[in-house]
Amino acid sequence: MEGIVYKSTGSWYTVKTAEGIFYECRIKGKFRIKGIKSTNPIAVGDRVHFKLENKGDETVGVIHKIEERQNYIIRKSVNLSKQVHIIAANLDQVFLMVTLNNPTTFSSFIDRFLVTAEAYDIPAVLLFNKADTYAIEERAEIAYLMELYKNIGYKVLEISAKEGKNVDLVKAMMIDKVSMFSGHSGVGKSTLVNALEPGMQLKTAEISEQHLQGQHTTTFAEMYDLSFGASIIDTPGIRGFGIVEMEKDEIGDYFPEFFALKSECKFNNCLHLDEPKCAVKEALDKDEVSWSRYRSYVQMLTEDLDENYRVDIYKDK
Ligand code: GDP
Ligand code: ZN
Repeated sequence: MEGIVYKSTGSWYTVKTAEGIFYECRIKGKFRIKGIKSTNPIAVGDRVHFKLENKGDETVGVIHKIEERQNYIIRKSVNLSKQVHIIAANLDQVFLMVTLNNPTTFSSFIDRFLVTAEAYDIPAVLLFNKADTYAIEERAEIAYLMELYKNIGYKVLEISAKEGKNVDLVKAMMIDKVSMFSGHSGVGKSTLVNALEPGMQLKTAEISEQHLQGQHTTTFAEMYDLSFGASIIDTPGIRGFGIVEMEKDEIGDYFPEFFALKSECKFNNCLHLDEPKCAVKEALDKDEVSWSRYRSYVQMLTEDLDENYRVDIYKDK
């Protein structure tokens, strides 16, 4: 039998089949995924194969195979520095909710988030929320940002979760897909999910980050099916897009508009800093590449990479 993992407690996995039946499953043997040292072998979103076995008067599923992951997001394990915890797998898209004020979302944060999504190979959509509150100057800034990110190739949408503006368009983007919502606390994630599916409560908001950091507990993500044929992954208290490891010369490749120009740079390992005949810097001089994007890039390259080549997108700047 085959199904998708909707929930895991560490030892038990709730798996849903295509017929819509949930089975409680366990793992048989050891699962090692090449190249990943993880504390958990199977995560929410994984597609698994299992067999039903009778244990006394109970029937349980035993998972014997995981299908290759299309993508997955990780979090560094609390205790074991080399190990990671796989938060979720096989995401079709991640929505980043952005507000200019209350709270402020800086464009450097948006860029670090998008780089992380590119590194994870998960399509990102930018939702500019609280459209009902913008004053004239903010309206112009939102329009500018939407144009900027749209031209790079990202889907963008201005919404009001509170007033329902464009919520139908968000719904349309979610059908038949597994989505995740991200963004600073207070941007409106819970409000949006409630507008999409009245009565639905995200757990994400309930645990504060500070609270969680001090604890050595592991929280697990959970997948939910919504009534209009969409699924979401809720990550209680986990910053799904926390930290990604990348090499210095990889970062530029995660800025799609820089990557598109790279082959025109004189050096094929060009970091677009001080090298001669750099196509990115030439495009920058012609205003064909945005200064704010370039600034974010330089910041990531020169300040954000720690000694382990990890970028923490939540590092305050
Ligand atoms: P979360 O922390 O991202 O889940 O944010 P919440 O959904 O809890 O929203 C934080 C605050 O912003 C609440 O007071 C919401 O009512 C408010 N809010 C959310 N969306 C909108 C919106 O579109 N317009 C306005 N004016 N307020 C909003
Ligand atoms: Zn270059």
